Amino acid sequence: MNRLFVFIEQEFRYLTELFYPRVCMACGKSLIKSEEILCTHCELKLPKTNYHLWHENPVKKVFDGRVDIFSATARYHYKKGGNVQNLLHNFKYRGNSSIGVKIGADFGHELMLSPDFKTVDYIIPVPLHFKKLKLRGFNQSERFAYGLSQTMDGNLENNNLVRNVFTETQTRKSRWDRYKNVSNIFEVKQPDKLRGKHILLVDDVITTGSTIEACLNALKDIEKIKMSVAAIASPVGT
Ligand SMILES: [Zn+2]
Repeated sequence: MNRLFVFIEQEFRYLTELFYPRVCMACGKSLIKSEEILCTHCELKLPKTNYHLWHENPVKKVFDGRVDIFSATARYHYKKGGNVQNLLHNFKYRGNSSIGVKIGADFGHELMLSPDFKTVDYIIPVPLHFKKLKLRGFNQSERFAYGLSQTMDGNLENNNLVRNVFTETQTRKSRWDRYKNVSNIFEVKQPDKLRGKHILLVDDVITTGSTIEACLNALKDIEKIKMSVAAIASPVGT
């Protein structure tokens, strides 16, 4: 019975691959049996930043003079039209959430070798706007954070940092009130849990860093909190 099940499963997989060939999510070439999501070439050649080995790196500098962070990194250099952009596009807009989990798990192994990152207690994803969550079906930052938590000592902390939902009456307020609203986009539900902890805030891409900055502003007043940042990719420093 079991063997029959395995046989049917293999046949089904063969048929699915016949109609939907498994391709590399970065370069589009067909994958061989042992490869998952990325081909061996992309696995080796996608441009890694290695910023986690370099404390004062370009991603950390993005936050200089804005908010105090301990360390920051991104796994890949992001260039328009490059394979990292393809990879992120397949992840965010084509519904392939396992891409983020894989990148997170692979990156987590490397971050555990860095003294800056191996002490992380909690991995916190940037919350997605509920409308986008509904549209996409998953939060890309949460999938990346989940992958990281598979290989790092830190735990995934989802739903503690939340995005406030503003009612329509609030959007009709004065300009000053609106400014206050924007600066309160994010809120921490259980700050006590994060007291004295090293948190790693994660997002898919860091460009201007403004979303990350707004999240960090919601976290920074927690007593003795240590804040670090990680992303899948960043165009900074290329
Ligand atoms: Zn490839």
